[in-house]
Amino acid sequence: MAMNRREFLKIMGGTTAALAFPGVLLQGCKKAIEKASERTQVIWIMAQSCSGCSVSLLNKLNPGLESVITEYIGLNYHQTLMGGTGHVAIQVLEEAVKKKRKDYVLVIEGSIPTKNEKFCTIGEVDGHHVSARHWIEELGKNAKAVIAVGSCAAYGGIPAGKSMVTGENPTGAVSASEIIKDKTIINVPGCPPHPDWMIGTILHLILKGMPKLDEYGRPLLYFGKTVHEKCERLFYYKRGIFAKEWGDKGCLYELGCLGMDSCCDIPERRWNNGVNTCTESGSGCIGCTEKVFPDYGKRGMYQHLHGDSRKENNNSSIAGIASGGGKLNG
Ligand code: SF4
Ligand code: SF4
Repeated sequence: MAMNRREFLKIMGGTTAALAFPGVLLQGCKKAIEKASERTQVIWIMAQSCSGCSVSLLNKLNPGLESVITEYIGLNYHQTLMGGTGHVAIQVLEEAVKKKRKDYVLVIEGSIPTKNEKFCTIGEVDGHHVSARHWIEELGKNAKAVIAVGSCAAYGGIPAGKSMVTGENPTGAVSASEIIKDKTIINVPGCPPHPDWMIGTILHLILKGMPKLDEYGRPLLYFGKTVHEKCERLFYYKRGIFAKEWGDKGCLYELGCLGMDSCCDIPERRWNNGVNTCTESGSGCIGCTEKVFPDYGKRGMYQHLHGDSRKENNNSSIAGIASGGGKLNG
C-alpha cells in the first residue's frame, strides 16, 4: 500500500468522524484499520457533480457504510467523506500516480469537462491546479477496475446537457468512458444511483469479480428489467386507468412516465430503506438511468407535459409500447 499507516489512520479517522461514528464503532474501526492493507483500496474522485451520488451513498443501511469502509474496502480518497484536507489528501492521489499503484478500484462521480483544464480542478501539485481530467486519466491507467457512479460519470448526465441557446455543452462535459478508453467501465447510472447499486457493485467486484453488464455497461443485477415490469401501478395500466393530473389514482403514463423505457429495480428495491419508489410517490419515472438522460428530445425531463408537447409525448410513448419498451437509448 502506498500510504504509511500513520497517514492512513489520519485520513480514516477523519472519515469516521465525518460520518459521526459512535466511540465503540471507532474501536472496531481501529482494529479494521490495522488490517487495511488486506482490503481493496478505493479512490473516489468527484468531478462535475452535485454530490448527490455521495449523499445517496450515505443512505446505505444494510450493510452500513461504516462496516463497508472498515471491513471490506479501504476508502483511500473521497473529497467529501475524507477527513484529510489540502496536501495530505492530494498526496494520496499524487503517490498513486507516481508510484504507479495498481491496488485500487477507481470510482468516478460526475462528468469530466474537456473544454478547459480550469473548469474543474482538484487540489494543487507544485503550486499548480490539477484538472479532474488529468487525475482521471492518470489514475485510470493503473486502476484494477473503474466504476462510473451516477448518470453524469456514466453517460454525461445533466452537466453534459446542451445549451438551448448555442446547442452546445459549455464545458464539453463527457463520461468516464470517453476519458478512459482502454478499460471496461462499469456504469452505475441514476440521478442519483441507489446506494445498494453503488456498494453492491463495489462488493461484487471485490468478492465475486466483474458483474455481468448490459450493452450500456450497467450491471444486469440492478438494471436488467424495466421499471414498468415491476411497477406498483401496473395494475392500473393493465386496466386502462390513467392519471390525468398529478395526484390522481392510476398509471402515470399519460403524464409522461418513462418507466416502460427505463431500466432499474427501484419498484422492488425502493428508496430510503424501503420507504417509497419514484412511481409510487406519484412523480413518475424520469428515466434517470438511461444513456439519453436528460436530453431525450421531446420526452426529456425539461419538456412541458401539457398542451401539444404532452400529445407528442404520448405519441412517442405509444411507439415505445408498440416496440416493447426499453427504446430510450436506441
Ligand atoms: S407507465 Fe409508469 S406508472 Fe404506468 S405502470 Fe408503467 S412504470 Fe408504472
Ligand atoms: S424509477 Fe426511473 S426515475 Fe426512478 S431511479 Fe429508476 S430510472 Fe430513475
